[in-house]
Amino acid sequence: MFSLELERLKDEVRASGAGKVLIQLPFGLRPYAIEIAKAVKGAGGLPIVQADPCYGACDVAAWAASTLGAELIAHYGHSKMLELPSGPAVIYLEARMDIDVREALEKALSLLEPYSTIGLATTVQHIHAIGFASSVLKEAGHDVRIGRAGGLVAYDGQILGCDFTTLRAIRDQVDAILVIGSKFHAIGASIATGKPTVMANPYECIAEDVSREAARVLARRYASIQEARGARSFGVIVGLKPGQMKLQQAIRALELLREAEKEAILLAANEVRPEYLADFTCLDALVNTACPRLSLEDDGSFGRPLLTFLELKVALGLMEWEELCRAGWFAAPGS
Ligand code: SF4
Repeated sequence: MFSLELERLKDEVRASGAGKVLIQLPFGLRPYAIEIAKAVKGAGGLPIVQADPCYGACDVAAWAASTLGAELIAHYGHSKMLELPSGPAVIYLEARMDIDVREALEKALSLLEPYSTIGLATTVQHIHAIGFASSVLKEAGHDVRIGRAGGLVAYDGQILGCDFTTLRAIRDQVDAILVIGSKFHAIGASIATGKPTVMANPYECIAEDVSREAARVLARRYASIQEARGARSFGVIVGLKPGQMKLQQAIRALELLREAEKEAILLAANEVRPEYLADFTCLDALVNTACPRLSLEDDGSFGRPLLTFLELKVALGLMEWEELCRAGWFAAPGS
């Protein structure tokens, strides 16, 4: 189902002359670990598969590769997002999916009937299907807009969980959004654009309007901000993944908190997980400068508010909620 690009992988391993090759796989690609490792071995490299999670191209394992002495990282499942200043070479293997999107698209058409102009987007796994999806929409009588590549994405119409540049560029020209992919990406698109958003999910051949669910996410964010207004002590989290590290933003958050006469400390974390933070019982609230989706997806499992930087500004009275809704939750990682 996935294009593993094993021939390209072998060519790159041979060309690099790498002895050790660190392979990064998202969870969905782990069943192919043996196949991929064999390709690396066949090209003369020693394959080492990283077992830690890898959720995005923000998480290129430069530190792990250096520790292992790997000269090459084979990063699967994402398009290139970052220029790493130093360290091992990285090849990105996008793992495009060979899956029929027609049935999910046809189900989405009935949900899109009330809308004339549709903004279309998808993840890198289906980006090759965007032309086909556009023609299906046009045949059904819609106008279609696809935003140009920009921000952290490599292709026109592509979105990431934290980058909706392609949709924000066209949001004023469209009546609704169609996302080919998962609910995670569709909800992000709805929050980023404020437009009615339909998901066409080709894995399960279903379509769904996610706008109400996105509104529920925003209601939870509003409640978290309100709760944080009463907090006296804060932990400001700095993400250690290369594409998530926003140390300057974290230091700025610390300054704002101290100006507001709150107690605050910086916390560095590779994985921002409730169980790792639970014992910081001295902290009433957390500020998350790493992946913004951790805050948006938070269902209360951190046991206290987990605010983004802009949400903190709202909690401190330095920004209006409406302004936050306009600015969105998706400033580029690393910014
Ligand atoms: S920062 Fe979060 S949403 Fe963005 S690519 Fe990384 S894991 Fe995905």
